[in-house]
Amino acid sequence: MRYVVDLHSHSGYAGGVGDISLPAVARTMARKGIDAFGVGDCLQPAWRENLSTLLVEREEGLFALRDAPPDLAGARFVLQTEVIFTCAVPSGGRKGTHVVLTFPGFDAVDRAIALLRRWEVKLDIGRPFVKCEDAGEVAEKCHAVASLDPTVMIIPAHVLTPQGVYGSDHPVDNLKDVFGGFAREIRAVETGLSADPGLLALLPELDGLTLVSNSDCHSGALNRVGREFTALSVPSASYPDIAGAIARGAVEYTAEFNPAEGRYFLTGHKAGLERHGDAYCYFSPDRTPKDGLCPICGKKLTIGVLERILGLSRAQSPDGVGRAPGSAPARQRAVRLVPLVEVVAAGLGVRNVSSKKAAAVFDLVLDRFRTELLLWEQPPETIAAELTGAIPDSALVAILQVRRGDFSFRPGFDGTYGGLVLGRTIDWYGHAEIVRPGAR
Ligand SMILES: [Zn+2]
Ligand SMILES: [Zn+2]
Repeated sequence: MRYVVDLHSHSGYAGGVGDISLPAVARTMARKGIDAFGVGDCLQPAWRENLSTLLVEREEGLFALRDAPPDLAGARFVLQTEVIFTCAVPSGGRKGTHVVLTFPGFDAVDRAIALLRRWEVKLDIGRPFVKCEDAGEVAEKCHAVASLDPTVMIIPAHVLTPQGVYGSDHPVDNLKDVFGGFAREIRAVETGLSADPGLLALLPELDGLTLVSNSDCHSGALNRVGREFTALSVPSASYPDIAGAIARGAVEYTAEFNPAEGRYFLTGHKAGLERHGDAYCYFSPDRTPKDGLCPICGKKLTIGVLERILGLSRAQSPDGVGRAPGSAPARQRAVRLVPLVEVVAAGLGVRNVSSKKAAAVFDLVLDRFRTELLLWEQPPETIAAELTGAIPDSALVAILQVRRGDFSFRPGFDGTYGGLVLGRTIDWYGHAEIVRPGAR
């Protein structure tokens, strides 16, 4: 059976970010079509206590809301947290690497809490720091966490963001530079909002690994929960079967943001930097200035994910040449997702995706299709037939454009988010722009 999971979130204890209410999440899960959701921060003692009051185990390792109303009774939760392993790396300095952990039950969570306390890890923040000398110590500690239960999952998170294992912050070339001997035991990595299976296929060392996608959300909002997810093929709905499917690579598909929308996709310099004024520039890897310097201010450009991944591909290839974009097909199916509420807002010309107007149209769409996932699975003709006259034409046109793949993103660069562009597809290779608004 297909089972849709979103196994990475933050409760509100992760250093002041997030504010998750599980009933609100359950409501959104039902509308999005998510079966199981990671609760976030499960090693934070106060939240852990809260969780055991809020939740009751329904299937092995899967939890439901206690006394849930019928419409929320189907939502399942997985005990999950994110931790940060810090260690010295070969490029110098200390790197912090985000890692998702999931547990089969409260017993295993409590053993993990005891273990981390023994290591003097401060657990009062939701996303604790596990300080290590070097990759060898990270390996030792990962082995200790893994030995709490054979179904505990240890998944490097959002691997290409600055805080991910391959991120630009204290860069490393290989998993073993952070995870040491435990790198061999890693079964899966998380794509994150900034990468997808197509891009990660350029990295030889990920060839045998499962790619999972999660929302990493900090709220129960419609455009957050399930904004990325993984559809697994499982024998039955249970935590051990979820962990087994991920270990075996039994993934039907992942739902992915377009990496171009991420804040660091292309190399560039944003407006507002010293000597920039309103001017900015961005470059695809083949168009980056040879000296790596900004043509506007003359300083070093901020390297984007696309350029970083090509560098990693060269470093991980024995011949030093690496894989060219498009030369390595993705090993896992992925679908591009744009949150429906964002599509509706773009169609209506509404800037704020949390506006009442967009939410009202979203509800009208789901009155016909039940969940967002089921909507996107319909052919465009069915969508048009169901929604014509039911929602404003501009919103319907936007939904059909996205369903047909007729959309792209202004690329993100140097901390500037990309944005949805409807009715146009753009290939980001061979692309460069130097914009000087004052100097026309
Ligand atoms: Zn993280
Ligand atoms: Zn510059």
